[in-house]
Amino acid sequence: MNVPEMFGSMVFNDQVMKEMLPKKVYQSLQNTMIEGKALDEDVADIVAAAMKEWAVSKGATHFTHWFQPMTGITAEKHDSFLTVDKNGCVIMDFSGKELTKGEPDASSFPSGGLRATFEARGYTAWDPTSYAFIKDGTLCIPTAFCSYTGQILDKKTPLLRSMDAISDEAVKTLALFGKHVKRVNATIGAEQEYFLIDKADYSKRLDLRLTGRTLIGASAAKGQEMEDHYFGSIRPRVKAFMADLDEELWKLGITAKTEHNEVAPCQHEMAPIFDNANKATDANQLTMEMMKKVAERHGFACLLHEKPFEGINGSGKHNNWALSTDEGENLLDPGKTPKDNAQFLLFLTAVIKAVDEYQDLLRISVASAGNDHRLGANEAPPAIVSIFVGEELGTIIESIVEGKPFKGRAASSRLDIGTSVLPKLARDNSDRNRTSPFAFTGNKFEFRMPGSSFNIACTNVMLNTAVADALKAFCDELEMADDFNSSLNALIKRELEKHRRILFNGNGYSKEWEKEAERRGLSNYKRTPDALVHYCDKKNVDLFRRHNVYTKEEMESRLEISLDEYQKVIHIEAVTMVEMLKRQILPASIRYSSSLASSVHNKESIGVTANADKALCAKVSSLCDELMIKTDELDECVTAIPSDTEEAAFYAADKIIPAMEKARQLSDKLETVTDKTFWPIPTYSEILFYV
Ligand code: ADP
Ligand code: MG
Repeated sequence: MNVPEMFGSMVFNDQVMKEMLPKKVYQSLQNTMIEGKALDEDVADIVAAAMKEWAVSKGATHFTHWFQPMTGITAEKHDSFLTVDKNGCVIMDFSGKELTKGEPDASSFPSGGLRATFEARGYTAWDPTSYAFIKDGTLCIPTAFCSYTGQILDKKTPLLRSMDAISDEAVKTLALFGKHVKRVNATIGAEQEYFLIDKADYSKRLDLRLTGRTLIGASAAKGQEMEDHYFGSIRPRVKAFMADLDEELWKLGITAKTEHNEVAPCQHEMAPIFDNANKATDANQLTMEMMKKVAERHGFACLLHEKPFEGINGSGKHNNWALSTDEGENLLDPGKTPKDNAQFLLFLTAVIKAVDEYQDLLRISVASAGNDHRLGANEAPPAIVSIFVGEELGTIIESIVEGKPFKGRAASSRLDIGTSVLPKLARDNSDRNRTSPFAFTGNKFEFRMPGSSFNIACTNVMLNTAVADALKAFCDELEMADDFNSSLNALIKRELEKHRRILFNGNGYSKEWEKEAERRGLSNYKRTPDALVHYCDKKNVDLFRRHNVYTKEEMESRLEISLDEYQKVIHIEAVTMVEMLKRQILPASIRYSSSLASSVHNKESIGVTANADKALCAKVSSLCDELMIKTDELDECVTAIPSDTEEAAFYAADKIIPAMEKARQLSDKLETVTDKTFWPIPTYSEILFYV
């Protein structure tokens, strides 16, 4: 296999563009891609023609505007290149207009009330900053999705806006240090966790098929306690899947780099090499789609749900985040010279301020019914947002705040920012705190709260905009300063002091931290609706308006969509559970107890003791009785869900989830006493320890 040759072979990337486009057109497109400048209109026709020629040569017959509506997954509507020309001949055609703008019928996508149904039209607009690619014989053109009145209906547009915001502010900040760059990009590496289970087991479970997770199921005798799966040797079948996945991703220009087993049985991870936030988001969406598709081919089902199985780890997505100039300088790298150090500390301080001031937004960006099973459980970061900087950087920050000399490994121990060199920070793994939701890992931050099924756009919109805002405040102050160095020192000291409460190096899983965080005034929104209702708080609306990322109406619509999605997910889960209990679990256990009753009857009629049969029969029967009651209660509870979206969301959290838990407990107990041959669905041990 020639990987370099295969890599990106299905992508209309820079190399292809350079080869196929006239120099001037290529240059104009480059200006758009690198500097975010508006695209010349006449350029579009030429690019479209080249794109079509390239796509057809690769066997493509259709094209689609590929976009990311508020459902979180990607959407596409395929059109063929086929056109009839003046002479009635069939030709393959693709115009600049078709490339730059599309009109999918938008009425069925969630808009949170932004788009009245009589104004159902929305349009998609080409995003030339992410490469077009071919998937299943279709040329996919990454696009943004808006309503005709200009309101955004997707996840990509705000991401692009937030990238512009942080670029503008970071460019201004660098100018203070005498560096003049054109663009600063947020860079993202999204590590993706997932489960692979046998398709046959998956097909037999209604809960997995309809909700992506198991709603019932007693724990297997073995879980992850032996810690023998993490980085363990990979099953040959899974290895074949991973090799196939790599190949598919490489063709699409996605830099799949590492593949390994994760902590839980059947859990795995894929990490790509980082890219700018827009491309990384598109790549992650495609990765999730490809994982599901390739899994099918190998007789697997790929589960991207945050908590497919109770009692073992769930899946997340680590969002590694840094800032990089168009010249390739990573602004979160401490650097070697005093000047670099000072610059690093200013950016670091901006991140600390941003995360402290907008901890609620970061929590909101990862809020979902699925992720609620993870956050706060003893496996994933807690629902409290805090930053881990490591001991060394922590000591440095302390000495800055206290105004004391730094006693570290450094040659120079004076820490007048800008006059002495920071010690070289260790970049090894030993210092890592796995319990922290937001950890500095040497030259980037790793945000670990996102759920495995999430579109990472939202998290990065929050992060980019909040950091842009902090940088803006810093620039406004420093641009006015008479003495840059002393003002810089004073600012860093003041801001670190103000926001140090967000720094926490200890065990994020501990009960003590919850108490301590409360004392520090940090927010701790345990459930999705508790977090979501803070989305449109005035400070948040002001933030996004200040940086032209969202209008208030756009935020209100997003809040409505998120609350609605939450209550719908739980509603579907509850209804699915009722169906499984009533039509599978109860009938099976009743059949079993009835067979035991016959056995008692038969045995006693010939004078043989049947104590075991009798005891079991009584036990199964009484559990069935209880389960029947709880199932009916759950059923009634679901039926009474309020119609108001926000009320429904809280009702789902307060009433439906506890009712589901009660029914589950009984069903799981019943499973442990019911004859395996009667149990109608694959059990945890069958699913997780398949051969
Ligand atoms: P691990 O966290 O498993 O030790 P790495 O630290 O090498 O692995 O990288 C984890 C992820 O972070 C990878 O996807 C990697 O590409 C990404 N990453 C590395 N550097 C940056 C950066 N400057 N910006 C964003 N992501 C980065
Ligand atoms: Mg990592």
